[in-house]
Order: sequence, then C-alpha cells, then structure tokens
Amino acid sequence: MIKTTTSPESLSKVAMTKNKRFFMCRPTNFSVDYVINPWMEGNLHRPDASEAMKQWEALHQAISEDAEVELIDQGPGMPDLVFTANAGLVFGNHAIPSHFRHPERQVEEPVFTEWFRKHDFEVTEMPRGMYFEGAGDALFLRNAPVLVMGYGFRTVLESATFVSDVLGVKVVPVKLSDDRFYHLDTCFCPLSGGKLIWYPDAFDNRSVKVIESLVPEADRYAVCEKDALNFACNAVDTGTTVVLNQATEGLVNKLHEWGFRVFQTPLTQFLLSGGSSKCLTLKLNELKKNGKRLKVQSPVTNVDIEFRGHIIDEGTLTKVMDIVPMRGGSYRVDRFEPGFTQTDPSYISMQISAPGKKELDAILNELIAFGGVVQDKEVRNATFKVVEKNGVAPEDFYSTTIFPTEILHEGDWLRIAKQRMDATVVLKQDNESVVAECCLIRDLKTGDQVLTGSHGIRVHTKRDAEEDEFRFMSSSVSSERRVESAVDHVAWEMKRIHERGGRIVFVAGPVVIHTGGGPYLKALVREGYVNALLGGNAIAVHDLESQLYGTSLGVDLKKGQAVSEGHRHHINTINTIRACGSIKDAVDQGVITDGLFYEIVKANVPFCLAGSIRDDGPLPDTVMDLVKAQEQYSELLQGAEMVVMLSSMLHSIGVGNMTPSGVRMICVDINPSVATKLADRGSVDSTPIVTDVGLFLHLLYERLLDEDD
Ligand code: NAD
Repeated sequence: MIKTTTSPESLSKVAMTKNKRFFMCRPTNFSVDYVINPWMEGNLHRPDASEAMKQWEALHQAISEDAEVELIDQGPGMPDLVFTANAGLVFGNHAIPSHFRHPERQVEEPVFTEWFRKHDFEVTEMPRGMYFEGAGDALFLRNAPVLVMGYGFRTVLESATFVSDVLGVKVVPVKLSDDRFYHLDTCFCPLSGGKLIWYPDAFDNRSVKVIESLVPEADRYAVCEKDALNFACNAVDTGTTVVLNQATEGLVNKLHEWGFRVFQTPLTQFLLSGGSSKCLTLKLNELKKNGKRLKVQSPVTNVDIEFRGHIIDEGTLTKVMDIVPMRGGSYRVDRFEPGFTQTDPSYISMQISAPGKKELDAILNELIAFGGVVQDKEVRNATFKVVEKNGVAPEDFYSTTIFPTEILHEGDWLRIAKQRMDATVVLKQDNESVVAECCLIRDLKTGDQVLTGSHGIRVHTKRDAEEDEFRFMSSSVSSERRVESAVDHVAWEMKRIHERGGRIVFVAGPVVIHTGGGPYLKALVREGYVNALLGGNAIAVHDLESQLYGTSLGVDLKKGQAVSEGHRHHINTINTIRACGSIKDAVDQGVITDGLFYEIVKANVPFCLAGSIRDDGPLPDTVMDLVKAQEQYSELLQGAEMVVMLSSMLHSIGVGNMTPSGVRMICVDINPSVATKLADRGSVDSTPIVTDVGLFLHLLYERLLDEDD
C-alpha cells in the first residue's frame, strides 16, 4: 500500500521544483547473501526479487517526482550495491568514497569510486584501514554547516578528523550503541529547515546530549520504538516530501505540522537486509554554503599509551580493549610484543582516540589504573589545579587506585604517599620538600593543588617476583579441600610478620562469635597476632553477650539452642555496657572478665567499631559518626602488612578501599562471591578463602600454636 498524506496547511508550502539530484541502483541483483547486520540474520536468500523490484520502482517514482535521479547498474556478486547511501559522502563537487568495514561490501568500493570519477566528482579516497561508510554514517544538518558522523559499528571515530580535514567542515561524532541501528541514517534523519527525526535509544548517553545541544527541542522529534524498527528514520527528504517505509500517526502528524508531505511506500524486502528508502538513495547535490571551505579543528583527540608487563595473562589487554569502546573511544594498536614464555613480560603501544578531550581524559583515567603510561611527544609533568571550595575537587581530578602511583614532577618521578582508592592527590611543597599524597575529597582545602588529567602519571600494577609465591592461592577461590593448606600458608606468613614486628590488622563481623570462633580470635590477640581490630557494633555486642549470658543473639553457644528470654540478652548487654560507660570500663569494673574484647582491652589492642544503620544501642564505643569511623579505620590500617577479613562484607569492603596494594589480604567468607569480590583487587596480594569462619579461626589457632609449641 502506498500512502501520500499532506496536511491542508502544508499544501501551500509545497514547492514542486526539481532542484535535487539523487543516486540510486535498480535492484537487478539484490538479495541477502551474507549476514553483516542483525536484520540479515535468518533472512539469507529470502527477499523476493520481483517484489523488491516493485517496491524499488515505487520509491524511484516518488523521488523522481521531486528530483532528478541518476542510476548505476547492479552487476552480480554485489547484492548491497542497491544501498547507494553507502557509495560515499558528497559535498559540493567533492566525493569521499566509502571504505567498507566488511569485506563482503569492499567489492563495491571500486565500482562507486569509478562512478564518482566518471561523473566529474573530485575524489579523495580514505586511507586503508580507516573505515567510513559514506552518507550511511555522515549526515549534514540542514540549517548549519555541521556534519554529524555516526561511529561504533561501521565507521571508525578516527575518520572524523580525516573527513573534516578533506572537506573543511565541522564534524560532530556521535556513537551508535544498538547494532540494529548500525548506520547513522537508520536512526537519525535531518530534514529541511533544521528539523530532525531521530531515535535517541540508538545512541550512547553522551551522544544524546550532543545531538540535543545541536538541534533545539522544538526542531527535533524522537520517534517511538515502532517507528524506529520500521526504519522511519531511514527517510528521504526531497525538500517537500518525506519518503519512508512506514510511519505511525504521531510521526505523520509531526511531519505535517512541520510542513512536509509524507509518502509511505513499503520497502519490506529491503528491510530484510537492514535498509530502507534513505539507504537506497544518495543525495548528490550537497551544496557548500557560499562555496566556502572552513578551517576547522576536528574534536576527535588522540594520545599514545603503552602497557608493559603480564598484560595478557592478567587480562589487562582484554579489559583495555573493552573499556575504550565502552567509553565512546577507539584504539589502534601500533606495536605489540607478546611475552613468549610464562615469565616474559609483554608490551603494547596503542593510540587511543575519543570524540573530545573530556572523553579522552575519562578513558585515560581508567587505562592508567591498569598500568598504562601516556606517551607524550615532549616530557609533560603532571598537572595540578587549585581547589576553589573546601571539600570540592576540580572537575577533571585524577582518582586514585590501590596501586603504587608515581607522578612526574619537574622531571622527576615522585611516589604518591598514603596510597588508597578513590582519593585525589594533593601536592605539598615548600623550599625543602615536595610531597604528593592521597587526600579524600571531603578533606580538600581551598588552595590545595590537586592532580588533574592523565599526563605524567604512572601506576604500577604488575606483580613482582616476591608476590609470586602465593599466586597459586589467589588464582581461584579455595575449596574446602584446600582450606587446610591455605591456612598453613597464612599461618606461616603471619608468623614471619609477627617475628619481624610487622602489623596484622583483623576485620571481623559478628559471625565470628556465632560460629564459635571467638575463643580462637581471643587467643590470637593474647599471642600478639592482632595489632588492631576493625569491626562494627555487632561483633562487640555478641562477644560481650557471650560473656555475660553464654549466648550469642540468645543462642546458647555450647548447645546451639535458643534459650528462654534469650532475645533480651543482646539488648540487656548493650544496656549493661552503657551503664558501665564503655567496654574498657566494663572490664575495669570486673563486669566483663573474659572473651575477645576482654583480651583486647587487657592487651591494649586498638580497635574501632564503626556504626551502621543496623545497630542496636549502640554500645558507647561504637563510632556513629561515619567520617570519624573511616578516619579511625584508616589510621589503624597505616603500616599494616596483612589484613585478615573475617565474615564482614560491609567493613571488609570499606577496608579494601583504604588499603594500598602490596598489603596481604586474606578474605574469609562462606559465600564464594563475597570472598572473590573482596579479594578481587586486580593484584595478587589477596587470597579468598571460602569456609566457615569459626573453622578457619580454629585451624589458624592450631597452626600458630603448633609452631609455638
Ligand atoms: P555483612 O552482611 O556485612 O557480612 C556478613 C558476612 O558474613 C557475609 O558476607 C556472609 O556471607 C558471611 N558469613 C555468614 N556466615 C558465615 C560463616 N559461617 N562463615 C563465614 N562467613 C559467613 O554483615 P555484618 O558484618 O555482620 O554486619 C554489617 C553491619 O551491621 C555491621 O555494622 C554490624 O555491626 C551491624 N549489625 C548490627 C547488629 C546489631 O547491632 N544488633 C547486628 C548485626 C549486624
């Protein structure tokens, strides 16, 4: 069914002059012979040749009413030659023929190139390897000298710079994010008078904002999913008429309101191949305004970055190759030297491109965290910006990781102090010293110099030889069978740290007490293996309850049975300690005479109980001001060589973020995904141990005591 609709008001606006030229290809050899987009899947050889011809003739006739149409013959072996929108990009008398991503379509390149030449176009070919699919991915706005370029599936981001240099036009790259809309012209259709119909869901978030900033709200219409899937945005604008496959009433009404006639003509046979009316045409007279060639700077920016080390086996390469396109950028590998043995490091140097400087900085910030070092043509020191408001960082501040980081300052690499995750870096210098150290955003003061951007920063993520000895344990979550040997190694490490006077910090949740691990942890405190304890309200309440009542949350710890009135034990315990003043006061007053916290008080082991919204009471010792609690945790973690995390997801995650890489972390949890998450720090110094925490503590105690005996 062919439908032409014209709003009564718009009739007067219709000017029937043939000042347009289009380029088309009669589908004498059209078919779906391969699959290079999701529409083709399941449609191999399905198009009906005579129906396709009928549909094309109807389109041709509709366009010929308003415009002149030039034709090219379709020889065999090029079933997609009918989609002339992909012949290339025309601007004035200049044509840039497409360089197709898929070899299946590369055979069309010489045919289109020759056609452009024969028809007196000045032809500039794309460099090899720089994919660009012509007017399928590059569309001029109709009221501004702006070429919007879609990239992500076919056209590469880098081609934006090439096209802008060759044609002298402003190019705005936008990223396509839904492979059903693999070309820009499947979801974006600039119309005469600066109007636009488009499908925002086909773009990434940044690109949606870019398009919204280019076209005023009143001039753009976002089509619904139904229109999008019927390729309504793949429309031809003859100047007066919008020719498309099918449109909903809403879209038709909008086009009428804007003064267009709407001509709906079925193109279902071509939809089987992923194309519709716009794909089947190329506008040949894209006129230069005043014939002027603009001097424009492409917004696409790029930088060279290199990675060294075990980038293949540690998965760095895969992550980098995922992150860059996910963040709207693209990469080109310039040099790659794989390590040929298990111990050989690898090397890769790549160029990263992004649609703008801000996007490039965001990508680089992530790549630096994987050990990437930006390669500057000349030496570029790290850059700093001044804090203008207490507790607020400059917009492009560098966000730290747990890995040792250095910055290039006045030509020297300077190691950042107090390394932790998710912090800024502040430069402190006077006549005698220069220090760069991690600083939380909330602690920034007006006037502080904060590290920004991505130049002059290097992060050391690679493992060194010393860490290799425990690699086998971190390669996977320990199964029950492996727990014993894992505990052997942990005990051995703890003894070594203990003997050399190093610090071991424990993080513990109340499950330690529930599972009967309290006495073993208490013994470790007594033996000097616990140099600080980090927990919450619950571990202390449960331990103290066990001392006062022999229960943990009302459950008899020896018999494992709930006792009568036991539910009150917990809250009574809190009340008792509150009456004493603090845990230490309760010990000093003889109210608490044994248990984990008794031992902690007696051995003068520093501890911090961080408050949470779940807490009952809380105990007087629980720090309900979270900022203060974080500060105390951080202080107690200073200088730790090992952190043992025992069944507390909440506190362990907090501790993980505050602790630099290089500190050994033992993460004990009965839930494999929690243990793995806690241990997944992208470094080999953490070991997940999946087991019951009571059992773990019992085994650890035995191993340490055996050695002592
Ligand atoms: P959490 O959910 O952060 O961590 C508990 C972890 O223990 C989980 O990861 C779980 O998989 C693991 N686990 C469970 N059984 C185990 C076992 N047998 N062996 C090994 N691992 C096991 O909870 P949390 O740390 O217990 O508490 C979070 C916050 O809630 C803390 O601040 C705590 O003080 C507070 N809390 C308060 C009260 C109270 O005041 N009444 C009670 C409970 C918790």
